[in-house]
Amino acid sequence: MVYVKRIELSHFKSFGGTTAIPFLPGFTVVSGPNGSGKSNILDALLFCLGLATSKGMRAERLPDLVNNTFKGKRGSSEASVSVTFELHDGEALSEQESNNNGNGNAANISKEWTVTRRLKVTKGGNYSSNYYINGEPATVAELHEQLNELRIYPEGYNIVLQGDVTRIITMNSKERREIIDELAGVAEFDRKIVKTKET
Ligand code: ATP
Ligand code: MG
Repeated sequence: MVYVKRIELSHFKSFGGTTAIPFLPGFTVVSGPNGSGKSNILDALLFCLGLATSKGMRAERLPDLVNNTFKGKRGSSEASVSVTFELHDGEALSEQESNNNGNGNAANISKEWTVTRRLKVTKGGNYSSNYYINGEPATVAELHEQLNELRIYPEGYNIVLQGDVTRIITMNSKERREIIDELAGVAEFDRKIVKTKET
């Protein structure tokens, strides 16, 4: 089964420098005092997987995700997060990757699969965000397509955040149905239909 092997954070939220956090297969516990940055690690994971809204990462705007002690050139700043997954032979993505490479040579497939997101903020507060898959630039749509192959859905409750359980209990049945659509993968097709109708 695919699992998160490592998360590397640079200037992301409370992480001032560059920090690599290793994860072992199975169960990992992150412990520490209140406010020490435990939840920020999960926010980093969501950021890297391309979560649509900064609110989901407990920030008003995306630029708020950059460590606030960071001082770049001419007042610009930058944060980046890399998530490395361990894939096993025969995992759906391996086939897709080889198809994308056009060589179909499974021997070239690395077992590690790394997604990187880089957020650049200018002095004026404008920002740009870029994604990379194994170091190659990718669009968020390409990233989500590949994540879908691995059944990883940034909005799909692979990650249960503080307050999610209470929210699910108190929401109405229509909202709860939307969660089931998301988990079952139906919502993705609904979004595609809406997008196609718009264009
Ligand atoms: P708890 O046990 O209360 O859940 P936690 O370990 O999950 O705590 P986090 O919520 O991950 O803590 O971290 C909160 C800390 O991150 C706060 O101290 C906040 O000031 C800091 N923080 C958030 N964004 C930034 C930023 N852009 N720059 C620097 N620090 C930040
Ligand atoms: Mg927390």
